[in-house]
Order: sequence, then C-alpha cells, then structure tokens
Amino acid sequence: MVLPKILYQNLKRYFGYNDFRPRQKEVLRYLFAGNDLVAILPTGSGKSLCYQLPATCLSGLVVVVSPLISLMKDQVDSLRSRGIRATYINSSLNWSEQQRRLKGIIQGDYNIIYIAPERFESNVFLDRLTQVKVALFAIDEAHCISEWGHDFRPSYLKLAQVRKKLGNPRLIALTATATPEVRKDIIKGLGLRDFKLLIKGFERRNLYLEVKQVENELVKKEELLRILTYNPLPAIVYVGTRNRVEEIIAFLEDKFSVIGYHGGMKSHERRRSQELFMAGSYDIVIATNAFGMGVDKSDVRLVVHYELPGTLEAYYQEIGRAGRDGFASKCILLYQEEDSDLREFFIDNDYPQKDIVEEVYSFFLAQNQQEVEVNFNQLYLQLRNLPSKLALDATLRLLRKEGYLKRISSKDQEITYQILEQVEPKQLEIDYLQLQYLKKNKYQKLSELKGYIGTKECRHQYILNYFGDEEALNYCPGCDNCDEVRQTRVITKELGILVQKILSCVIKLGGRFGVTTIAKVLTGSKSKKLLGRGLDKVSTYGIVNDFSYEDIISIIEELIEARYLKRDMGRYPTVQITKAGYKILHQPYNLDWNLVREEKEINNLANQARLELLNKLKDLRTRLSKEFNQAPFIIAHDKTLEELVRRLPKNREEMLKVRGFGEVTYRRYGESFLKVIQEFLQVEPELDRIETPICLDGTYEETFNLYKCGLPLEDISKERGLAVGTIVDHLSKLIESGVEIDTRRFISASELEEIRAAIAKVGYQTLKEIKELVNDEIDYNKIKLVVAGYKKEFMPN
Ligand code: ADP
Repeated sequence: MVLPKILYQNLKRYFGYNDFRPRQKEVLRYLFAGNDLVAILPTGSGKSLCYQLPATCLSGLVVVVSPLISLMKDQVDSLRSRGIRATYINSSLNWSEQQRRLKGIIQGDYNIIYIAPERFESNVFLDRLTQVKVALFAIDEAHCISEWGHDFRPSYLKLAQVRKKLGNPRLIALTATATPEVRKDIIKGLGLRDFKLLIKGFERRNLYLEVKQVENELVKKEELLRILTYNPLPAIVYVGTRNRVEEIIAFLEDKFSVIGYHGGMKSHERRRSQELFMAGSYDIVIATNAFGMGVDKSDVRLVVHYELPGTLEAYYQEIGRAGRDGFASKCILLYQEEDSDLREFFIDNDYPQKDIVEEVYSFFLAQNQQEVEVNFNQLYLQLRNLPSKLALDATLRLLRKEGYLKRISSKDQEITYQILEQVEPKQLEIDYLQLQYLKKNKYQKLSELKGYIGTKECRHQYILNYFGDEEALNYCPGCDNCDEVRQTRVITKELGILVQKILSCVIKLGGRFGVTTIAKVLTGSKSKKLLGRGLDKVSTYGIVNDFSYEDIISIIEELIEARYLKRDMGRYPTVQITKAGYKILHQPYNLDWNLVREEKEINNLANQARLELLNKLKDLRTRLSKEFNQAPFIIAHDKTLEELVRRLPKNREEMLKVRGFGEVTYRRYGESFLKVIQEFLQVEPELDRIETPICLDGTYEETFNLYKCGLPLEDISKERGLAVGTIVDHLSKLIESGVEIDTRRFISASELEEIRAAIAKVGYQTLKEIKELVNDEIDYNKIKLVVAGYKKEFMPN
C-alpha cells in the first residue's frame, strides 16, 4: 500500500523531516491499511512519530498511554511547538487542572492526548472520555503489561477493557524490548486477535560485541584497566551496586577522569553527574543500571559491564548507549563464574520456600502480641533454618505483601511489625506455586544471559534470534566469536569522514576522472598535469591530510567494489557515484562493505595466524599511540600493518621496504614492530613459508583462490559476482605486490609479444597509448596484466 500523500506533507509541515525512517513507513502502512499493530523496534527508530503524525490527519483523537510521566510534559510541549494540539493528564496535575483538560478534550480542543495508565482506574474519567471519538489508541512502552518485564504496571492490564469502552479504536502497541514471553503477554493482555507483529531493527552494526571471561576479581580489575587504557573513550562502566560504584571509582580515579552515578545519590547529584558526563567533562562514568534513561550522548565509544546485567534485554538496552552516532564502538562484558553463582544465590533467596515462610510467621505468632519488635540481625540468628539474611528479608517482604504483617516502624535494625492476620502457619494463603514459577522465570532469564556469554556463535545473531528479529544478518558486523571470519572494515568516525570526502570529490569532479586523479585531488598533489587542468581549484582539493595517498586509493577501490562508486571502463577509466553512494553521502556510518559481498569464511590456518598477528600489531600500535600520544593512524595505517603481516620483515632493511614505514617511523617504532613479528614467528613458524597474497582483505584472497583453481577470467568473474575488469584489477595488484600469477593463462604468446613491443615504444604509464599500438582484439584487461608485471619489476618499494 502506498502511504497517503497527506502523511508526507504533514511530516514536512509539522516535523520538518523530508522522509520517513524505513520502519516508520512500514508501521504507518499497516496502520493506514486498518490493522492493529504491535511494533517492536529499538530505541531511536522514531517510534513516537508513528502515532504523533496520524494525529495531524485522522478525524478523531489519538490517545497515547504512557508510563513515563516525567517525560509527558516535554513531549507535549514539543508537539505544541510544532503546531499540533496536544495535552496530557497524569498525577502531576491537581484535580481541577485535570478536569479542565478533560473538558477541553471533550470539546475537541486536542488532536492527541497523553495519559498515564493509572488514570483509567477511575471509571468517571473513562466514562467522560467515551464522549469523544478516539481514532487511534497508542500504547507506548507496551512491555509494561507483562509481569515478566522489568517495569510491570498493573494498570496496563486494564487497557483491553479501556479500548473496548472507547469504541474499539485502531490500536498500536510499541516497545523497544520484548522477549518472547513479554510479546505473548502484550498480545494476550491487549486481547489482540487480528493484528500485525513487526519486530525489526535490532541489529547494531556499529557495535563490536565481546565477552571476556576472567578468573577472579583481581584479574577482572586488571582487565578493566586494560580495556579503558587501550580503547577509545568516552565509556560507561556498568556495575551492580552502589558500593561497587565507589570501589571502582577509587580504583580508577588516579588514572582516568571518572564520575559515578547510582540510585542512592540525591537527584540533583545524579543530574549533575549525568550532565557532566554528557558535556564531556569526564571520560568515564561508573554507574549502576539506574544510569541511562534520557542519556543522549551520541559518541559513547565503549560500554563495559563489570558485573552481570539483569537480563539479556537489559544488556541490549545498556549497550545501546554506545555508538549512537553510528560509528564503531565496543561493548565488552567481563564475566567470572562467581558472577552467576551470586545471581543464583540472590534468586534462590528472593523466593522463599514454604517451610521458611512458615517458620518466620510462627515466630511472630509465638510472641503472643499484636505488635512485635524485632532486631533484624538477632532474628536471623534465632531462626535456625534460614539460609541467609537475604532470605529473611525476602520472607518478611512476602508476608507484608500478602497482608499478614505490617511494618509500623523501623530504625536501623530495630523493626516493629504488626500482625494483621492470625492463622495457622499451614493455612497461610500464599501461592507457593506462583513463587516457584517466578523463580523459574528468573533462572530462565539468567540462563539466556549465560547462553549469550557462553555462545561460540555470532553474538549479533544470538541477540537477533533472541528478540525474534525477522531480518537475519548475512554477515557478522563484529564480535569476538567471529573475529576470524570478519571481513568488514570498521567504520570509525575518521573513516566515515574520509568516505564522505571521497564521495564529494567524485561528485565535484563530475565523474570525469579516474581513481588516481581523485586521490591526488584529495591529497592536494602538486602534479603538473593536475595543476594544468586547474584541479587545484576544486573545493575538495587537499582536504584529506590524515590518510595516505595509497590508503585513499584502496578505499576508493573498496567503495567501487561495494558499489557506492562505479568505474566506467571507457577509453579512460573514470569513477562515478552511484545511487547507493548518494544515499550514504550524509550517513557514512551506514556504509556496508558487504553490500555485494557474501559471507565467506576465512578458515584456513594461515589466515587465522595472519589475523592473529595483525591483531597483535594493532595492539602494539594502540600501546604506542598512548605512549607517544599520537593518533594510531599516524604511527601506522591499517594497510601498513597488513603489509607487515604479508612481508614479515626480519630487519631494518626489509622493514623499510614496507610502504608507510619511512626512516622516521622506523627510528621511533620499528624495533617494537619487528620484535612482535619475530616473537610471533617463533610460535607460528609456518606463517613465514606460506604464500600470501597482497592484502589480508578477503576480496583479493578470494580472487586469488579461484585463480589457483585454474578458472578462466570470465568464470572467476561469475563466481565472484564482480566485473571481469575488477578481477583483472585484483590480479594486477597481486602481481604488483609480488605474487606469482601466470598471465599466460589469459594472454597468448603473440599477444604478449605485441603488448611488450608497444610498451618498449611508449612506456607503460598510459594504457591508452599502448592500446593504440596493438591489435584491436587485445583489450585493456590484457594490457593491464602485462603492465602489472612491468610495474612490479620497476616499482621502487
Ligand atoms: P524511539 O521512541 O523509537 O526511541 P523517538 O521517537 O524518540 O525514537 O525518535 C528518535 C529521534 O529520531 C528523535 O530525535 C526524532 O525527532 C527523530 N526522528 C523521528 N522520525 C524521524 C524522521 N523521519 N526523520 C528524521 N528524524 C526523525
């Protein structure tokens, strides 16, 4: 179904947006086709607009149920400032103000109203609301309907009835987290029958997910220190308790700028902590899970869980605070076996057994008084069968909740209880079965979390499966388990900006120039040819200074391969931007190197070893970067490190042959790199004997492997789904970098002779000049392969 035009017009008119986010479109399509809908979409996907926008064009009121009373006023103010007639009713307003607003609603003064679910407890209120025509009933944070969810709100259970009373308007339930049980509860609780369920967008492509198992607390602390030292900040470190916040701050504060945040702090202190962290005054916040709501810091690069999160969905929510700007960020969970033992201990104690409840209750009865004063610690010692103080505390809470005891006063350990109801302990009306069920559920949640921790599969996939996201990933965006098969380049902010610059330069040059000219313009080359053409006047001239010419070339090649750019193989190979390129121009973080690549496993040992060495070199670079206070790419680019792995230099001389390793770099860092390589070779001596192609970049390797199978060019091209020209480019690059490629498989002896003769006359700098001298049958591809051989021979290293 096509969306009504008015929605596009009002999107622009009231919200100022030019287009919908993809999932918004889907939601609105379902709604306007008359469906009820449960939409489970992650935070930040623009859920609110899905019910706010309809308010601008539906004939009738949009009623939004939301538990977030503290946010209602801001939401309504923001809608009003956009010219949408909105109001809210919740317990923060006094009775007469509530009545005044209700009257306005009935008079038709509003298009959209926000209501706290508890308001519907009042029949009078509900009756009055039935006087208006409700066009859409939107239930925000719909997971609150589930007792298994983290923010259960009993009033949500009445919403099915409320809807009926309101004349069964169309319904949309929205939430960012819903596990299978919660999903079931939403559907059942709202009495939905004929409806659509949309679960999408849970993949977080820019997050690198990792779990680090540690032996003990001491190692955990060291690991935390290491992580914070070698990864980009700002960081959020989540811990379990207030005390832990203090403890970790004390541990870190002489090394980092850290601030704390926990529920025990006064609200103004909490606000201050949050503001200071958001403003960038501190690099690290050590927080309990109270931290997060309303934190809108886009450049958090690291989220570390020092202790286990409550559930996997809580974990997902918390790591969602990393990398909101879309750029690469890391999420590391530190785990030691005892963490889950401790969790189990808490769960066990939280749901006391029948005999324990009876023992505690009997104690109170035995005092023969209406009011009993106890000292908590003494009581614990007195009651023999209690496994822990926690169990005592949970039992007392249970007896209070079930209406048998009432706490009338408490001071420190001294607590006075009133016995509200006296029955035989065996007659206590407590649903022990339900307690066991709750306990089982908690265990279930814990085991799901442990499943994530222990999985050997892709962590991203594990999370998607868990949430039931319909869109499967066909590759891993980055996790410790898939590291060996990882092929994507990490989209760091620096790389994102470079891609943006490259794309703009291609546009500015009007698609009339090739890869080298683009790279020269970007790096501000002073070449005569360039200046002669006036290309130094282009606005993108010289705008890149933090990447080398070679890097830019290889990134342009990758962009071509991923189809953000395309190469026009005419007489002069030129580069143009594609539709996909335009799409990512302003959102470089959405770049997907795998656009046309398929997941391919690099699973042979040589590759694993090479990747391992590469990681070691990267670690070294990070350490040096801290030590010398230099940006990592200044020390060595990724490509340089990759080339080190390829060449495995053994001494200064060999090292200097590696592109990107000049005298100066060598003097400063050369020895350190050599040492790491040599140490590695002692463990993996095989590596030195294995023939390795130019780049670790999987794409060359794949072409190389197919070449080794003896396939002709056309078949390699078909197999890889890439143009023959691209395959030739790969082979040429491999040749140039010293890999043995037998070009006679693709070029006949007479053709080779002709090309050589032409090169003898005009050199090999301009393919076109060679082409003009040879037989028409000989195409550019053949010429390129021969030229590559010359380049290899004559290229200075
Ligand atoms: P969610 O409720 O899913 O977490 P929000 O409704 O709070 O997400 O929206 C997240 C952000 O996205 C808001 O800043 C909102 O203004 C913005 N946004 C929503 N829809 C669009 C759109 N179509 N184009 C651009 N920005 C949008």
